[in-house]
Amino acid sequence: MQLEMLPTTVIGSYPRPKWLREAISLSRNGRIKKEDLEEAFNDAAVVVMRDHQKAGIDVPTDGEVKRDEMVEFFAERLNGFKFYGPVRVWGTAYYKKPSVVSKIEYRNPMLVDEVQFTKSISYTPFFKVTITGPYTIGYWSYNEYYKDRQEMVFDLAKVINTELKNLVEAGSKIIQIDEPAIHSNADEVKWAIDAVNESVKGINAKLMVHICYGNYKIVAPYLNDLKVDQINFALKMYNYKPLKLFKEVGYDKEIGAGVIDVHNRNVETPEEVYRDIKRVMEYFPLEKIWINPDCGLKLLPRDIAFSKMVSMVKGTLMMREELKKNGTISS
Ligand SMILES: [Zn+2]
Repeated sequence: MQLEMLPTTVIGSYPRPKWLREAISLSRNGRIKKEDLEEAFNDAAVVVMRDHQKAGIDVPTDGEVKRDEMVEFFAERLNGFKFYGPVRVWGTAYYKKPSVVSKIEYRNPMLVDEVQFTKSISYTPFFKVTITGPYTIGYWSYNEYYKDRQEMVFDLAKVINTELKNLVEAGSKIIQIDEPAIHSNADEVKWAIDAVNESVKGINAKLMVHICYGNYKIVAPYLNDLKVDQINFALKMYNYKPLKLFKEVGYDKEIGAGVIDVHNRNVETPEEVYRDIKRVMEYFPLEKIWINPDCGLKLLPRDIAFSKMVSMVKGTLMMREELKKNGTISS
């Protein structure tokens, strides 16, 4: 079995069904049992997978419905972290910013259960699992123990590497390292790339890195140094301007092209997606292009997230049809 040309995927997160959010708050008040909440989480993963299937996504995820947040989840499960109060990020969104207070060490597998369950419910062998990368976990944590951030991030790379080995053993064949913070600091980006490489050392899977909002100029010269198969980017929100930059630096890996704006509730039309894919094809060879939203869909209303996925797939199918008709790809 093989993926079609221009494979479609999601970045990872998907809106939690409303009933799951209610179940979570009931469990916080002690009104439903732990087992019942676990069942609700599993059921939610099933419906998200089903949404992805209905939309026609080639490489789905479980929507990360079991994780509250992308740094906190891992910090809670590793040795060395302590939590202070919530910190404000992006307007009204808050998160519990963790602090590193002792050496970061691996405790137990963090995502193995999630992978095993996702594998058991996936409609395709090409499901994807996501994990937050070492630089982003380090950048979004306080450092109260290490000499500097670099030392902290390289210890994080070690524990992520251990986790990745366990995920491959559990059946992960496509793994995405989320590094939305990697282009936050121009003075650190070079070793941040090395840290990601350290985290994927010896990992036998198709590897992707997700980089989204921020200054791509900071990271562009180092993209080819990442020892992964693919990097996926937010492009729609930037009206595809970064494509020129990536071309200029000689970027030559697979590119996951963000064609859906996750900060805008207007649903892109399939025609718009088709035209946008055409623009990406002007810069990169067809066989190196994957199609995805700019970022996770989690913060959108569920019906809008779903409609956006449907348009993304329809626009991709329009392009595939055209390529088959003109003989560029075989049908
Ligand atoms: Zn993102």
